[in-house]
Amino acid sequence: MAEAPEVEVLAQDLRACVAGRPITAAAVIDPAAVRFPPPDAYTRLLTGCTIAGARRWAKHLWLPLADTPGEGSAGEPPLALEIHLMLFGTLVLLPSTTAIAPTTLITWTLDGGEELRLVDRLGYARSAAGPPGELIERLDLATLGPDALAPDFGPQTLRERLQGRRGVLKSVLLNQRVVAGLGNRDADESLWLAAIDPRRSASSLSDEEIQRLHAAMRGVLQEGLALRGTQRDLFGRKGGAPHGRYVFERSGSPCARCGTRIAAIRMGGRNTHFCPQCQK
Ligand SMILES: [Zn+2]
Repeated sequence: MAEAPEVEVLAQDLRACVAGRPITAAAVIDPAAVRFPPPDAYTRLLTGCTIAGARRWAKHLWLPLADTPGEGSAGEPPLALEIHLMLFGTLVLLPSTTAIAPTTLITWTLDGGEELRLVDRLGYARSAAGPPGELIERLDLATLGPDALAPDFGPQTLRERLQGRRGVLKSVLLNQRVVAGLGNRDADESLWLAAIDPRRSASSLSDEEIQRLHAAMRGVLQEGLALRGTQRDLFGRKGGAPHGRYVFERSGSPCARCGTRIAAIRMGGRNTHFCPQCQK
């Protein structure tokens, strides 16, 4: 699944191998994959731009673009390319001569006979392009909460974010406006590690429980990143992180801590996996 560790791995790969390279052409294979502008305008806008860098913004990929050298203006990059991988999307860097897989949604041709491709077997991944201010506004990026992987995301920040939230803990943790960067899988694993029941009210956690949850979230995200995620990277190499470690999609299996069968319930439209015995 494409959660924060997987998106971060791709951002790192893009910075290493794609930053500084021009987009010589772009092709929209599935028009539904472009949020805005319309596919024709999208490809026109991107052709001739240089990818200036890449970063993860919650679960979005954000690539600032510069005009092709010679036409460039100093200061802020005038455009940006945004990509959201949704559940299972990914990016691959391939020789342009490689046959286009049926799961390909968008291609961006680079220099040196290589192509960056957005692929998704479910077809849910999305992209947008435009001036940074327009992207931030239309994609609602300014309202995102602090990033759980940021160096300054401490237990105090988590406490402040959960304070006064009457919602169910699991759903509140998935709300990217509260905390950015925690997906369904990583939330379930974090709550199991912290031994906290996902059905609790978010505002009911003691200081000690918040410390435990914070340590668990950071542990799960950093381990996922260190193992290069669960998906393939930009070069097609599979990451070493397990899809489900202790609870995620392991319902019916014995809990690694107490042996009780892992339960699965629907919460806020998402599957939630937890141990009904030792998560209090
Ligand atoms: Zn248990």
